[in-house]
Amino acid sequence: MNGLMLQKQLLISSLIEHADRHHGDTEIVSRRVEGDIHRYTFRDCHRRARQVANALVSLGVRASDRIGTLAWNGYRHMELYYGISGMGAVMHTINPRLHVDQIAYIADHAEDQYLFFDLTFLPLVKAIAGRCRTIRAFIAMTDRAHLPQDSGIANLLCYEDLVEGHSPDYTWPDFDEDTACTLCYTSGTTGNPKGVLYSHRSSLLHTFAAAMPDALNCSARDVILPVVPMFHVNAWGLPYVACMVGAKLVFPGPGLDGQSLYELLEAEQVTFAAGVPTVWQGLLTHLEQGGLTFSSMRRTVIGGAACPPAVLRKFQDGYGVEVLHAWGMTELSPLGTVGAMKARHHGMSPEERHAVQARQGRAVFGVDMKILGGDGQELPWDGVTSGDLLVRGPWVVRNYFRNDGGNPLRIDADAHGWFPTGDIATIDADGFMQITDRSKDVIKSGGEWISSIEIEHIASSHPAIACAACIAAKHPKWDERPLLLAVKKPDAQVTGEELLAFFEGKIAKWWTPDAVVFVDAVPLGATGKVLKNQLREQFQDYLLAS
Ligand code: AMP
Repeated sequence: MNGLMLQKQLLISSLIEHADRHHGDTEIVSRRVEGDIHRYTFRDCHRRARQVANALVSLGVRASDRIGTLAWNGYRHMELYYGISGMGAVMHTINPRLHVDQIAYIADHAEDQYLFFDLTFLPLVKAIAGRCRTIRAFIAMTDRAHLPQDSGIANLLCYEDLVEGHSPDYTWPDFDEDTACTLCYTSGTTGNPKGVLYSHRSSLLHTFAAAMPDALNCSARDVILPVVPMFHVNAWGLPYVACMVGAKLVFPGPGLDGQSLYELLEAEQVTFAAGVPTVWQGLLTHLEQGGLTFSSMRRTVIGGAACPPAVLRKFQDGYGVEVLHAWGMTELSPLGTVGAMKARHHGMSPEERHAVQARQGRAVFGVDMKILGGDGQELPWDGVTSGDLLVRGPWVVRNYFRNDGGNPLRIDADAHGWFPTGDIATIDADGFMQITDRSKDVIKSGGEWISSIEIEHIASSHPAIACAACIAAKHPKWDERPLLLAVKKPDAQVTGEELLAFFEGKIAKWWTPDAVVFVDAVPLGATGKVLKNQLREQFQDYLLAS
């Protein structure tokens, strides 16, 4: 017997409709590429998203057509989020930090019909314009006054002309909630990037889960600043969450340095911000150097890479900002776990709390996880035993776009499909998961595994070290041994021996790196992660040579 409740499809358009109706005068504030601050409301955004939808219809865009964006976090990008998906087309956010060949590849692979771009990315657009077979026109997200003359791009349109040239009279169509709404490619550090195609249903369910108190804990009393880019996994879903809960949104545009972020956080009285560790390190350095504090920020979610304990302590103990450590992936829309405390953690000492918070957190409702040993057997949740992390749930990828790479799922004995994350993790009795490594980064020394992340955390908590990366270097006896690459803080003095001595008593002796190499910088990829494959190429023979 079926239930007797109304059927309503879960559609992206319902989020902006809700925000307009119930939080119409709540603001969206953006630092623009043009240099100034722009502010308007959810009601304005909804009107312009409908104008976008009419403009797309006039351009001949049909349901399921892919429409590319190369853009910062800003109000025009937000209008596209809703205008494109709302009318039934697929918004394809492209990461401008990818290599130009990869950008051309994915725009072509996705068969993008139009490409919207912020002016910052004009050189990129010029570089790919002749190489994308399917793109009918490029739309510069600016007004006519700022439109570049002689851009060299034949089919260049002006966003403001296009949007303001169309009426806001538009009724969002109703369609099957399983319809695709957005497409995001993985960073592709090895091989070509693969497309993850989210549906309206998966995105709406993810939005409900992300907003929950033990997830990102968002409400109409929040002012949210997503530093995480809208071009990578939908800024962790925050443009959707803000509409669902009616939170004010603040977009940083291209201003991601410590000073620009701090000015915006303070001017707009931001309560909650989201970012990867490297961005927060820049902000914290700015605060330290200027002797500044936060007047409104209450919490921050940090993910995308392991949050160094030093960053956690500074935010929490130094500035009174609660840190939520989260883990996710492009393939998970992206949220998998969040490190919200349980009642039993009340009354813990700061040190004990930090140890819990250093883990990547508990699964949000909707995500199941398990860890498997090399023999495929499920491992215990004892906080010590580590294995391959697998997940499943309604916002976890089932297949990559165009079936790239074949079926990624592992089918268990009950015929359930599980997505192998490629991460190695432990899970404790409270369900707190901790990533010990990417499976390809783990250091296999004499058949035993050493966690590169743990070594990096210890190194980066040394007062003279700005950041550190630990890689597997070839070793004649043990196959692989840890080699530490470290970047010193400006003017700081420390020797390799002193840094290695700092590990004493903090980890098992045989985990201590064999050597330290000081470098000027470590290479970062398109989503703020250290490119360890590059470091391995450069340094894997270091111990053999020395
Ligand atoms: P991406 O799909 O580019 O967002 O990358 C996902 C990968 O980033 C995961 O599989 C992890 O390896 C890594 N990652 C994400 N969040 C964390 C975290 N909090 N700690 C450690 N690694 C993380």
